[in-house]
Amino acid sequence: MNTQHLRGIPLHLEDLTYPELKKLKHEVDGLISKNQVGEVIAKREDRLTDCPNCSSSQFTRWGFTKQGVQRFKCKACLQTFNALKGTPLYRMRMSQKWVQYNELMWHGATLRDCAKDLDISLRTAFRWRHTFLKAPSYTGIQPLSGVIEADETFINESFKGKRILHRDARKRGGGKSPKTPILIALNREGSVIHEVVDRNTKESICQFLQPRIADGSVLCTDGNKSYIEVANGCKIDHKRIIGLDKIRVVENIYHIQALNNYIMNWKEWMVRFRGVGRGYLTHYLSWFRHMKQHKKSDQGLLFAAMTNT
Ligand SMILES: [Zn+2]
Repeated sequence: MNTQHLRGIPLHLEDLTYPELKKLKHEVDGLISKNQVGEVIAKREDRLTDCPNCSSSQFTRWGFTKQGVQRFKCKACLQTFNALKGTPLYRMRMSQKWVQYNELMWHGATLRDCAKDLDISLRTAFRWRHTFLKAPSYTGIQPLSGVIEADETFINESFKGKRILHRDARKRGGGKSPKTPILIALNREGSVIHEVVDRNTKESICQFLQPRIADGSVLCTDGNKSYIEVANGCKIDHKRIIGLDKIRVVENIYHIQALNNYIMNWKEWMVRFRGVGRGYLTHYLSWFRHMKQHKKSDQGLLFAAMTNT
């Protein structure tokens, strides 16, 4: 709605009776509480102190975007911007559909279902998914501490959108598709780190783990010898669960079952996506981690994206 129309509304309000005004207020309050996106944008506007382009504090209100978001113009560099500048959502359209899109994502809807339910193109559905997934992928993770479980897992490489490559790979591999290695570790507090790597080697395992383990931790792994070097490098205790005599737990507390379960659950959840390109695997790992860690908030991704700068 443009400013002129907005100014016209109070003129009509004067004709309303007290019960009519109360009813209207109730409806407006309801709409405000439902407009979570508008609320976050308004809070960001309140905190704006300088121009995101040149850091000048001399800026002024400058109309609204087509989406109805307050626009600002900097007096120093003359650039216009709004409160979402610097977030992955800047210039993304149809903000009224973001909340519902996030709900669909949370429930694991396919891109096709999202596109159909929200009347957006498949292309937009795909772009939005990965826009929302940027924030959890970039979240800084503290080094793991305490009892840490680490392992490698493999996932069939998908060649979505790369038909020629796919044909070549099939020829070379005799029908078997290659597998992408993923290094993954977690601790008992529920912190998880992961990395998609080119090759599962001792070097890549050391590079992945050594900088991310806090002093005084205990590392639990299977028999893979690469982890001996990790533990030695970090000067921490190492419990190798080798499965001799079917022993799965050492000294009552050291095992890698939490990690095995986590990986199994992730893989089961991935089935719905029917193959994900290698370049996007990190997004899907981070998305899954985000859901595990924010069990109650189906809007977590949206608000992480809106506050991410
Ligand atoms: Zn400026």
